[in-house]
Amino acid sequence: MTGTGGGTGLRVGVDIGGTKIAAGVVDTEGTIVRMEQCATPTAAEIPDAVRLLVRGLTEGEDVAGVGIGAAGFVGADRRTIIFAPNIDWRDEPLAERVEDGLGVPVVVENDANAAAWGEFRFGAGRDVDDMLLITVGTGVGGGIVHDGRIYRGGHGIAAEVGHVRLVPGGLPCGCGQRGCLEQYASGTALVRRAREVMEPDDPTTPVSGHEVTRRAAAGDPEALAVLADVGHDLGQGIATMAAVLDPQMVVIGGGVAEAGTDFVDPVRRALELHLTATGRRPGPVVRPALLGNDAGLVGAADLSVRTD
Ligand SMILES: [Zn+2]
Repeated sequence: MTGTGGGTGLRVGVDIGGTKIAAGVVDTEGTIVRMEQCATPTAAEIPDAVRLLVRGLTEGEDVAGVGIGAAGFVGADRRTIIFAPNIDWRDEPLAERVEDGLGVPVVVENDANAAAWGEFRFGAGRDVDDMLLITVGTGVGGGIVHDGRIYRGGHGIAAEVGHVRLVPGGLPCGCGQRGCLEQYASGTALVRRAREVMEPDDPTTPVSGHEVTRRAAAGDPEALAVLADVGHDLGQGIATMAAVLDPQMVVIGGGVAEAGTDFVDPVRRALELHLTATGRRPGPVVRPALLGNDAGLVGAADLSVRTD
């Protein structure tokens, strides 16, 4: 069994995003009891901002732990952000800086790992032991739960699923490589593909991801085709990952997953088509995420009181 601790005190989850910081008290069933948020300040001001949110939420009460989810490479010690794409952090000792003056144990997790844990404990994956979460938003992120634990790899930075190579020599990626899944199966890729084939509703603004989803729900064949193309590429990428990980379940989260079956069904079809030894082996079940934007905050709160 995995380790838990922290007694009966409150568990606080914090989600540090590029534009806002959300913090919430989460109960042992994964329900957010209360929540506060603020705009994301400069990197140097973030520890103060997090402390202020935590104090505001927990005034006078015993706090068992604070779990912080943030985008970037998080060290295996769960205390340091090695590198972040959106915030100016390099080897940032974030846990120590937030603990300083707060007097409560703090752990830091990669945001997608925290979201995977939230879905595993309280969402779509609560009945399985091996699960892969893929978040399809601006980029493509992911988290692996193996045998009931987050799989962190040898350096703490496993599950960068958006950078699995889909197209050798393909589109350049911000990671320095080419042809990464993220360039074909993210929200950004969805919008790029939509602009190639769709006229915007309003000629003064370009086609957006929400517009594609909305038009697909209304039966627009072009919008459905764009979602199907992006879903197909994601399904191909998942087939590669399934060859390595053999997960029981793949949970699809992030903004694009809000398109529901218009997106998830093409993912399922492509996975079935491209899965190694398809038809002669069990494959993963593909499910939409259940916790939405709250998955990372809920997962981080739960992870704050676990020792693994
Ligand atoms: Zn990449």
